[in-house]
Amino acid sequence: MGKVYLTGAGPGDIDLLTVKALRLVREADVIIYDRLANADILNEAKDGCEFVYVGKKDSHHTLPQEEINEVIYQNALKYETVVRLKGGDPFVFGRGGEEGIYLGERGIKFEFIPGITSAIAVPEYAGIPVTHRGITVSFRVVTGHEASNKSRSQIPWENYKTDDTIIFLMGLHRLNVIADKLMEIGKPADYPVAVISRGTTKDEKTVIGTLETIWEKARDLPTPALIVVGEVVKLHDQLNWFEKP
Ligand code: SAH
Repeated sequence: MGKVYLTGAGPGDIDLLTVKALRLVREADVIIYDRLANADILNEAKDGCEFVYVGKKDSHHTLPQEEINEVIYQNALKYETVVRLKGGDPFVFGRGGEEGIYLGERGIKFEFIPGITSAIAVPEYAGIPVTHRGITVSFRVVTGHEASNKSRSQIPWENYKTDDTIIFLMGLHRLNVIADKLMEIGKPADYPVAVISRGTTKDEKTVIGTLETIWEKARDLPTPALIVVGEVVKLHDQLNWFEKP
């Protein structure tokens, strides 16, 4: 029986892979990977390593999570070193916990290898610090996926009246609903918002707007994309470094 390494692949830029993740990728007998994990990482694998793609596209899962769990389990019965490579960090909307529970219940050993999460690194490449002294003392990372469910959304919008930076993952297609909700709870229409598409890759694009304008400006950006809401967005002008020509 093998061991499964539930491994964060980082946000896109291959150089943001951890040393530990790279070592495991090089040792792996099989790598089970996602759409969001940079596929160039697979070039680091040893000869004969098997590759299994279990990609998901936003809400359109090509493989249901239950099946992914089973694929990982079956590979752990066959191979000694199984690397389950996931975009960003396995625990940040990565369902790494579910995969660990499934394996644990079947007697399979596992380890988690943290990855650099897009939630912090993508704003960083856009020159937007998630906290900044004198501007905000905290940040939240929220799923935007939920926002479509207007009447039964589990997002406690009322709690978001504070000036925390809010980072929405999986939210681009609900950006209009998110912006409306935030204005409904009292944020001004000119409150700053950024959308960052394909962050940390050569295709990175940041669009800056306000709660009122951002939907029109950013709705057609390619995914993956995340949304940053808060006064820290204004620092982009001074701190933008990666997208500069
Ligand atoms: N576990 C991942 C997040 C998975 S949820 C992590 O820690 O990064 C998937 C969402 O992450 C996407 O819908 C998008 O909002 C965001 N995301 C991932 N990679 C991104 C990138 N390179 N640029 C912008 N957003 C990204």
